[in-house]
Amino acid sequence: MQQSYTLADLQNWRAVTHEGAPIRLGIFGDPVEHSLSPQMQNAALQACALDIQYARFHLRSDELEEALRLLPSREFIGINLTVPHKTNAAAMMDELDPFASRVGAINTVRIEGDKLIGFNTDGPGFSRAIRQEFSVDLRDLRVLLLGAGGGAGHAIAYQCAAENCERLVLVNRTPEKAEQLAAELKQSFADTRVAGPVARLQAVPWNDQALRQQIANTDLVVNATTLGMKRSDSPVLATTVLEPHLMVYETVYSPPRTSLLASATEAGALSANGLSMLLHQGALAFERWFDREAPLDAMRAAVSSR
Ligand code: NAP
Repeated sequence: MQQSYTLADLQNWRAVTHEGAPIRLGIFGDPVEHSLSPQMQNAALQACALDIQYARFHLRSDELEEALRLLPSREFIGINLTVPHKTNAAAMMDELDPFASRVGAINTVRIEGDKLIGFNTDGPGFSRAIRQEFSVDLRDLRVLLLGAGGGAGHAIAYQCAAENCERLVLVNRTPEKAEQLAAELKQSFADTRVAGPVARLQAVPWNDQALRQQIANTDLVVNATTLGMKRSDSPVLATTVLEPHLMVYETVYSPPRTSLLASATEAGALSANGLSMLLHQGALAFERWFDREAPLDAMRAAVSSR
């Protein structure tokens, strides 16, 4: 695996030596070792004959702002952000694109001169992933979103709103965050499109009973929590909550098979892991950096041959 760089490395960038092309792109995270973005984006750069590299940076939250501010003088083109930096980084940008501004979290930064411009490609990347995995559009789905309080959860919820999905149920460990998000999205779900005696937009508490009540009026369950990234994590849902009519999307891709995916299979539901979202959010980030179409096949091959 490619090494991880640190804030100290960025501070002393001229003294840092590495093999190959100059590093002009990267990902900031904590943890970041699990990320497949370096191998995917480096495959894209190679496929487009761009003589630069994409690297991994392990940065704590209290190091994020200084690291971002060093990027222009280090001649970076852009950066991706992963757990736990997406929301904090949004507040550190000079400009945000309109969707990122609504979401309040970013996963992509483009550097223009001294300016940092923030984008959120997680939302549109998620939408493309759902179409790829299940051959359906978000607008036709009743979605139950676990982890509505995080950066990825916000991006997915705002994407569901932008595409006018049939129904959205927001669930979060800290329930106040799901309630706050429901209040923000209220206008987008104001008309009564959904059939049956259920609300189009609802924040519900995270317990098996409340979730079971929602499942009959749900098509797609999404895990946007960090649960599943560590093998020691407790299961996101009890298998008995899931039913065969569901599609289950796990945003985690490393490890590739989480306990939620095992439960989905056991319940007879369709399921997919977050590799497709990784691919599509990455392709959209590449397009923001280079204003050209991303080499999707090379990127897909790089993450599926792991
Ligand atoms: P984040 O901003 O740190 O949010 C974490 C979310 O997980 C919050 O909703 C948090 O709830 C919840 N959570 C954390 N520990 C929990 C626990 N023990 N029990 C229940 N809920 C818990 O992280 P993020 O950037 O949104 O990332 C979330 C997930 O999305 C990660 O697994 C990440 O890998 C995945 N993701 C995947 C892709 C992809 O391309 N496949 C892209 C983006 C993100 P509280 O609000 O209560 O703290």
